[in-house]
Amino acid sequence: MALKLYNTLGRRVMDFVPIEPGKAGFYGCGPTVYNYAHIGNLRAYVFDDLLVRTLRYLGYEVSHVMNITDVGHLTGDDDSGEDKMLKSAAERRESVLDVARYYTDAFFADTDSLNIEKPNVICKATDHIPEMIALIKRIEEKGFTYSAGGNLYFDVSKFPTYGELAMLKLDELQHGARIDVDKHKRNPMDFALWFTKSKFEDQALQWDSPWGRGYPGWHVECSAMSMKYLGDNFDIHAGGIDHIPVHHTNEIAQSEAATGKRWVNYWLHNEFLVMGSSKMSKSAGGFITLKTLVDASYSPLDYRYFLLGGHYRSQLQFSYDALDSARASRKSLNDRLLAIKAKVGSASIPPASGLGKAATARLDAFKLALEDDLSSPKAMAELWGLLKDQSIAPAEALAAAYDMDRVLGLGLKQLEEPVGADPELLAWVESMIEERKQAKANKDWAKADAIRDELKLKGIVLEDNPSGTKWRLMDTGVRS
Ligand code: AMP
Ligand code: ZN
Repeated sequence: MALKLYNTLGRRVMDFVPIEPGKAGFYGCGPTVYNYAHIGNLRAYVFDDLLVRTLRYLGYEVSHVMNITDVGHLTGDDDSGEDKMLKSAAERRESVLDVARYYTDAFFADTDSLNIEKPNVICKATDHIPEMIALIKRIEEKGFTYSAGGNLYFDVSKFPTYGELAMLKLDELQHGARIDVDKHKRNPMDFALWFTKSKFEDQALQWDSPWGRGYPGWHVECSAMSMKYLGDNFDIHAGGIDHIPVHHTNEIAQSEAATGKRWVNYWLHNEFLVMGSSKMSKSAGGFITLKTLVDASYSPLDYRYFLLGGHYRSQLQFSYDALDSARASRKSLNDRLLAIKAKVGSASIPPASGLGKAATARLDAFKLALEDDLSSPKAMAELWGLLKDQSIAPAEALAAAYDMDRVLGLGLKQLEEPVGADPELLAWVESMIEERKQAKANKDWAKADAIRDELKLKGIVLEDNPSGTKWRLMDTGVRS
């Protein structure tokens, strides 16, 4: 079977046919770095990772591009409200760039501990202002823009297929538009390509442009950066479903207005992580970060396991009970794997391509599950089936499990070499403990806590007692 993906553009499952055989260009909308990612946001990035790992598993050479939004994203996606970065910087009394740096680092610490592979290109909006200006010029030359109140807007009435992705007609979109719309807009759905005087005149981040000194709109960032790294037409673009009606709809309009042709072939959107009846969001009360979970002694991989247990196109209910059962399942999965590993001992592990009938059948079913619009729950069920199948020789089961983990990313190979036995990591943990001891001696409690947290993110828990500090691995119980 060929890989099938549900394309939001057209609302149906389609065969994935790449532009260039064997290659896949993929752009996933990255974070706006004004705060920590919450676990709902992280669902979007684990989904991106599932997609990228699946494409690679199926043999595609993937070019994965992700942006970091550090300017221009307002609290309302429709150009309303304040700039998220400026608001956060003012609250923290720090510069926008310091805030961006801090939360970018925090974001990648989270994605690392979730075993999310780093994108091939990570591009910051503030590093790509010339590309954005060049793209806006192209759009302007084609006659899709107008200036009002000092800003340059995209005129959606000039773009006949506006709203195609959201499957809404312009009048329906207008119907749902906000009442307090920017008075400079001719149409409520028009959006700013470049801001100058209308907002935040005193903001630190401004650039000269043909339309005056100012800064870009949020949507144009993604179009300009994706086109720079992937070309004017590329394979896949992804994000959460909240991006369908505004952000991605606007990205399509401005990109296709500039090029006059189809921009992205497949649009993939992950459903929300919800808590009770509401979507997890930064403004809502239930703001849970990965650190919240780690502080409650869950491993980041328990959360990854929990996410993979749901299909990306279904809403997922978060609760601590559900996370507890994911943790328990992951523990018994790991125990099974370690037991198989013990049976294999020092015998060599065969290559995944040369396994017997039963193990190969499991791998085939696993691949089919992924090809079926990335069904991670079915893929996980195949891993379980493999580990429970007594007819498969331990070395073959191990080989197949490691092969599946190239996609699942549950760290099964690391279980093979407990951290306690890895001298490099052992030395690092010891040096961190020593550094923390020094920090405590200097009464630098913030640093001491930060070191504890950093170790915790790696699954290492510190236990202080009168004779000194001991550490243990959160999952396997390996101790110092
Ligand atoms: P943001 O930093 O707000 O642009 O969000 C980053 C990514 O997280 C985007 O792809 C959003 O669509 C996605 N997202 C936001 N909230 C949730 C949620 N509760 N569940 C899943 N994805 C979400
Ligand atoms: Zn985007």
